Amino acid sequence: MSSRRFMISSRNIRDGYASFNGDLFNHMVRVLRLGTGDGVTLVDEAGIEHQGIIDQVSREWVAVRIEARRPAPATGDHGARITICQALPKGEKIDLILQKGTELGVHDFSLFCGRRSVARVREDQLAAKLERWQRIAAEAARQCNRCSVPAVSWSPSAAEAAGSTAQELRLLLWEGERKQSLKSALADLGRPASVIVAVGPEGGFDPLEVQQFIKQGYLPVSLGNRILRTETASIAISAILQYIWDMM
Ligand code: SAM
Repeated sequence: MSSRRFMISSRNIRDGYASFNGDLFNHMVRVLRLGTGDGVTLVDEAGIEHQGIIDQVSREWVAVRIEARRPAPATGDHGARITICQALPKGEKIDLILQKGTELGVHDFSLFCGRRSVARVREDQLAAKLERWQRIAAEAARQCNRCSVPAVSWSPSAAEAAGSTAQELRLLLWEGERKQSLKSALADLGRPASVIVAVGPEGGFDPLEVQQFIKQGYLPVSLGNRILRTETASIAISAILQYIWDMM
């Protein structure tokens, strides 16, 4: 079996060894039960892969002897970069969306406060929330052996989230769309280099938000007659696009 891959900071590497404590130590030693002599692949922020052998394990530290290094094989360049533009849902649903979207190959998450979002983020809470959301994405990326961590960003409104769009294809998952299905919208389109998908909160999109997204070139599409929970719609679209564009 190819050795397990872990994302690290190049700061962990010194004099031919990489050493870790904290989350990465727990994941390697306690969760995966790796030990002395096991091979691991460490990918740093510059995209360099360090092949190594676990050399020492103490109560809180693990040391890896680096045996070889090479540029990490380009990943994700075979498919579209998927951005989920997600209205903040209530409670911990965002944890599920970040975790499952990361496992399903989402490139990054653009979160925003929808006009009908029940959850609100005060200015003084934002830094801590962004850090927590980014940690969830990093943990999910580590668990599924991704060598890239999706970035998580925040906009105070749908208008600002829609306005900062640079993706080639823009989709608005709109519960009010009655004519255009996702399937018909994508039927004549090839695989784009990048796609962003807007998903509303539990209360849905309000008409002004729908207009704002459409003005920014978003295609409103339906996922069928059933009304899906926001987390279901967000996770489903991440999987559907991966499948349609042969990215699984
Ligand atoms: N409150 C809305 C209603 O009752 O019509 C439902 C909003 S739904 C719970 C949350 C979000 O999931 C929607 O804003 C939309 O982005 C997406 N969604 C849910 N079902 C959908 C469908 N059938 N087609 C397109 N998008 C859907």
